[in-house]
Amino acid sequence: MSNEPHNTPHIGPRIARRGLLLVLSSPSGAGKTTLARALLDSDKGIHLSVSVTTRPSRPGEVGGRDYHFIDQAEFDRLRESGELLEWARVFDNSYGTPRAAVERAISEGHDVLFDIDWQGAQQLSEKLAGDLVRVFVLPPSGDVLERRLHTRAQDPKHVVDARMSKAAAEISHWPEYDYVIVNTHLEESIAGLRAILTAERLKRERLLGLSDFVRDLQSRL
Ligand code: 5GP
Repeated sequence: MSNEPHNTPHIGPRIARRGLLLVLSSPSGAGKTTLARALLDSDKGIHLSVSVTTRPSRPGEVGGRDYHFIDQAEFDRLRESGELLEWARVFDNSYGTPRAAVERAISEGHDVLFDIDWQGAQQLSEKLAGDLVRVFVLPPSGDVLERRLHTRAQDPKHVVDARMSKAAAEISHWPEYDYVIVNTHLEESIAGLRAILTAERLKRERLLGLSDFVRDLQSRL
């Protein structure tokens, strides 16, 4: 995947850099979607990758914003024609990341945020390791997780129960991530996530324009 130079935002002179791909994973109910929305609202330099899914939409979800809701035949077509950057079966439904939208966002100079599970994070790690920043979100306790899943109340009870029992399996993947946020207080978690993004944007190896900048700087000393 091509990765056009970006600019370092906010800090110091404009130095071209590679765009980054920020992956957020967690068990359902840990607050990941809320965190993702807060980050997107507060930082216009990062765009959400909108996945395709065969899951039916929940009340309040909007096609094209939360997901592209498609049927299994269309999903299979996208997968077989290589139009998905990664894909996985989660809770008996298929989910995948459309490749073209990610490439477009990167080429337009945006970083990209992914709300995907550990299977997707592993596939992106194999393909795009250098551009990837992986963040895992944990609930502060099992009780809080169960309460959040119940109060969300948009899924039938058997779905909530299935998600609770899958949480342990998902949580077991935490060591595969670069950062872990324990989501006790939302505001603190958002601040942590923003700090991760700021620091990762400043990583030396992403700053493609740094050699030229330093050479120019040295020539004037
Ligand atoms: P939900 O049905 O609650 O929206 O999502 C269920 C799980 O699927 C979440 O962990 C979410 O992060 C994950 N997910 C959503 N989109 C994708 C995707 O495109 N790829 C992968 N691998 N997982 C996804």
